[in-house]
Amino acid sequence: MTPKYRRVVLKLSGESLAGDKGYGIDPQVAYSIAEQIKEVIEMRVQLAIVVGGGNIWRGVAGSAKGMDRAAADYMGMLATVINALALQDALEKIGVDTRVQTAIEMKAVAEAYIRRRAMRHLEKGRVVIFGAGTGNPYFSTDTTAALRAAEIEAEAILMAKRVDGVYTDDPLKNADAKKYDRLTYIEVLNKGLQVMDATATSLCMDNNIPLYVFNITRKGNIKRVILGEKIGTYVGGGAND
Ligand code: UDP
Repeated sequence: MTPKYRRVVLKLSGESLAGDKGYGIDPQVAYSIAEQIKEVIEMRVQLAIVVGGGNIWRGVAGSAKGMDRAAADYMGMLATVINALALQDALEKIGVDTRVQTAIEMKAVAEAYIRRRAMRHLEKGRVVIFGAGTGNPYFSTDTTAALRAAEIEAEAILMAKRVDGVYTDDPLKNADAKKYDRLTYIEVLNKGLQVMDATATSLCMDNNIPLYVFNITRKGNIKRVILGEKIGTYVGGGAND
């Protein structure tokens, strides 16, 4: 089976590491995600990960409680580094080579983000985990995924969720919610769908980076997306792409 993509960015939200508790890191969940990643690395797919921090800290929530937004956002970025190290540990334990690169320098724990170095690691079959977001407050890790994907010339972004695609409404709350198989970036923006934030969606649109929204909690789904199986929701430029 030939992979459809050779180089991809996997966006993992903080929540995807939290398991059912909804906060913190569940080592069992990190381990099962690592197993899925290993499957595609063995197919010689180059995979970079952008990890969120919402399971530990959300900047917007902090600033809503009276904290300075930029300070709260820096805390959020540090939270993503904690997740990056947890993922690194889970991957290395099952024999996957990794490097963590952070947008805020942290010499004792990770490499600094250097684009060409990240690409070289990928060529060598290492999983590169990007921590600390873009390094700038007022951004999200969705935007980081779009930015890094454009920079490292990734062919697609895999948006890992706990539901199996994009729905007309929250499927966990509304039983009548319908799943979209395909969407355009413009539809995502106009309908205000919960795929990624508007800044990130625009960046993907401007750089023509396709998105796949899929359920990470089902084993083997990363591989299915890479092989081009039609699971989840595809977001792209238009009807003919
Ligand atoms: N963040 C930021 N700049 C970035 C990326 C992240 O300030 O470039 C902060 C922001 O406060 C955000 C937090 O880090 O709320 C965690 O990231 P995010 O909410 O994107 O994580 P996820 O929802 O994917 O878990």
